Amino acid sequence: MSGHAIVVGGGIGGLAAAVALRRIGWRATVLERAGELREIGAGMSQAPNALRALEELGVGGQARAAGVPTFSAGNLRLPDGRYLQRARPGDPTPLLAFHRADLHKLLLEGVPDGWLRTGTEVTGLRQDERGVTVVWDGGEARADLVIGADGIRSTVRRLLWPGTPPPRFLGRTAWLGIAPAGGLPGSITMGSGGYFLIHPISRGRAYWAYVTTADRPEVRYEKEKAEAARRLAAWHEPIPELIAATPDEAVIHIDICDLDPLPSYVRGRVALLGDAAHAMSPDRGQGAGQSIEDAVVLAAALSGEAAAGGAIEGALRRYDTERRPRTQATARGARADGRRTTSPAAHRVLTTMIRLMPAALWRQGITADGNATWRWQPPHLPVAPGR
Ligand SMILES: Cc1cc2nc3c(=O)[nH]c(=O)nc-3n(C[C@H](O)[C@H](O)[C@H](O)COP(=O)(O)OP(=O)(O)OC[C@H]3O[C@@H](n4cnc5c(N)ncnc54)[C@H](O)[C@@H]3O)c2cc1C
Repeated sequence: MSGHAIVVGGGIGGLAAAVALRRIGWRATVLERAGELREIGAGMSQAPNALRALEELGVGGQARAAGVPTFSAGNLRLPDGRYLQRARPGDPTPLLAFHRADLHKLLLEGVPDGWLRTGTEVTGLRQDERGVTVVWDGGEARADLVIGADGIRSTVRRLLWPGTPPPRFLGRTAWLGIAPAGGLPGSITMGSGGYFLIHPISRGRAYWAYVTTADRPEVRYEKEKAEAARRLAAWHEPIPELIAATPDEAVIHIDICDLDPLPSYVRGRVALLGDAAHAMSPDRGQGAGQSIEDAVVLAAALSGEAAAGGAIEGALRRYDTERRPRTQATARGARADGRRTTSPAAHRVLTTMIRLMPAALWRQGITADGNATWRWQPPHLPVAPGR
């Protein structure tokens, strides 16, 4: 079985889905509402599970070339600079850090010319037993299946699951930035009520994020960089320096939200993928990684069903059965981690536990197979001839 899919959304999840479909011999049309396809935002890390999924998509080499090893999970500090755990020189790390644009670009390069249509905001969907019609202002198109990869405020989800609650504000807010600063190894500094993350990224830059508690969403400041700098003025070097070195316009302020678990990611011939299905708090660094996993599993289910002579609906049901437990457990864990790492009440207990943990045990937990989420192995995608 091969066919044609419409992917709604050209973020990391949507592009990963298009690359995966191409691998198995399908055709895809990616509809993106933005007039120009570019990933804005700051940086991110990818763990071994997502890196294996990228290998399966055929872009593992490009990911290894674009990513920078980061020791964020190995260097845990307190705001006064003391280390709770410290990576040794020469230690390996399985985490790679990226500028979001670099990860987005390497996936885009795997999408054939002519598959992407920008400036197209999907507003409607109709499906019957033979296919799905997708509607936008001024046009429509039909395909064998539709993948809703349109992010946390997904239109596809709203159209097909109208009763679903909106994203939930998690009582936390974050400032993010990219500064010219080479040679930083990556670290997390755990304060009472918030943490500061540093990842080295390509071309001698560092990505930073400060995540802290907030009573309500949408509180914004006239000078966001100055506000972040004020809050972190007494924290250890290089934190104040990094903020100072960040261009004002490169500081982003966002509120942290996630989705309550959905009862299903699939309805007929439509499947949700990535943040549209399971937007999660960023505290495990897994949101985009899970969307790349989704793409591989969905393509594997389609090719497996083809081998069995089955129908698209069956493949999507298999995708749903496989992905929902893992992604929802990851989202639950991320939500709980976020509460723990930013709660002033939990701070002393958490930092004491980390300090008392033998270094060897801590290091074991951050090896490639050190935790259950990172241990995941992708299904093998049968690569179609010429792909
Ligand atoms: C502070 C922070 C840090 C993070 N750090 C990490 C990390 O370290 N590692 C990690 O793996 N993840 C991380 N994440 C999560 C990650 O950013 C998301 O999970 C990921 O970007 C989701 O990708 P997506 O393609 O599903 O959705 P999106 O990136 O939201 O893409 C959706 C796309 O759909 C388009 N669209 C929306 N509606 C329509 C429509 N109606 N029609 C057509 N197009 C539409 C949008 O324009 C957009 O291009 C972090 C998130 C945050 C907030």
